[in-house]
Amino acid sequence: MNNQDLARRDLSVLWHPCTQMKDHELLPIIPIRRGLGVWLEDFEGKRYLDAVSSWWVNLFGHAHPYINAALREQMGRLEHVILAGFTHEPAVRLAERLIRLAPPGLSRCFYADNGSSAVEVALKMSFHYWRNLGQTRKTRFVTLENSYHGETLGALAVGDVALYKQTYAPLLMDVITVPSPDCYRREPGESWADHSIRRFADMERVLQQHAGEVCAVIVEPLVQCAGSMRMYDPVYLKLLREACDRHGVHLIADEIAVGFGRTGTLFACEQAGITPDFLCLSKGLTGGYLPLSAVLTKEAVYQVFYGDYAESKAFLHSHSYTGNALACTAALASLDLFERDDVIHRNQQLTRTMAEAAEVFADHPHVAEVRQTGMILAIELVKDKNTRQAYDGRERRGLAVYRHGLERGVLLRPLGDVVYFMPPYVITPQEIRLMAGVAWEGICKATND
Ligand code: PMP
Repeated sequence: MNNQDLARRDLSVLWHPCTQMKDHELLPIIPIRRGLGVWLEDFEGKRYLDAVSSWWVNLFGHAHPYINAALREQMGRLEHVILAGFTHEPAVRLAERLIRLAPPGLSRCFYADNGSSAVEVALKMSFHYWRNLGQTRKTRFVTLENSYHGETLGALAVGDVALYKQTYAPLLMDVITVPSPDCYRREPGESWADHSIRRFADMERVLQQHAGEVCAVIVEPLVQCAGSMRMYDPVYLKLLREACDRHGVHLIADEIAVGFGRTGTLFACEQAGITPDFLCLSKGLTGGYLPLSAVLTKEAVYQVFYGDYAESKAFLHSHSYTGNALACTAALASLDLFERDDVIHRNQQLTRTMAEAAEVFADHPHVAEVRQTGMILAIELVKDKNTRQAYDGRERRGLAVYRHGLERGVLLRPLGDVVYFMPPYVITPQEIRLMAGVAWEGICKATND
């Protein structure tokens, strides 16, 4: 087997996610033979540093010996069992552990098998909660501009990235979209906190007007990841929690991308000291090994669904692979590593190293902003640094950075013209400097005209 063979066979049978397949007439697809730590290796021995954690899922590197061993052991015992009417040890242990680690007050864990499904679960549970209480007017959701919550129709409807959403608009439920606290848009000299507080006025107004018809507000805490890694201050979440309580509306925290240490704390909500009504988890949940998601909620929510069967109050949502035993085992092993290696604490040094390695970008003539929240660092490319005029998206500057990265052995996958680093936590300081160096070269090349 070599790169070319597999690439040729791939392109004759596969249809890849989030891809204009015609791009592959020019852009080779990269067959990966194996992964180890932060490195991916193709069939000819060429290596790529996985600077995007394979779509933000991988936490401790590829083929981690501890997670591998845990999976091997579980595989010999039980790979999967229906989770309705039956249960198994990894599902129970993981639920116990997530509840212990999550913000206080979340005491029930509902499993699904990918991020979008977790969002669907949270939306349906919130709606159904109000319905079980006889509040049938509550049928709508409030979301932030530039948010992203997945690609299934419900999750897409509460997102706001036009590139993914626009085409399907006629199929999507109507939502109320509120301006984002995104601090890229703050006034010169304004702090993140001041901007986020100022932006909250719109949310307050919408809740005042619409609370009677709103089930929940859904947000990505601290970082709107797919929305170009735009960031905001924790104070916004604090204000939102208070307002949701005041107006009788649920708060759904979608920590699918930001959970498990990405923002510097295990969960981003911790930085605001809040507990959402629904906490959606996936991606890093299994350390990047297997698809699994969970929605954690409060006992008060659970109780509203609890009753005699004839009352028809039950939450009858299901996915075949709900709480898969191997996926739960990978998740438990990943949580072991957090504890064993004091990861949240150790990441503080890596966070500083990332900041230092990216310092030079701020002075680049086509960089409008370098921003960072914990282990996520983003570099916003623009046509004009002074006015912040964006490049015409059709010029695909980010794609040029991607191509350069591949040539030099670093998998950067810019979101439009935003180059970002979200590496696995096993990255070394030297590898951080390599990643930043290659991004620098790519940005210079892509903007040199
Ligand atoms: N919510 C957020 C915040 C995400 O970043 C993503 C995936 N990028 C999803 C939901 C959807 O997860 P999945 O791709 O597993 O469906």
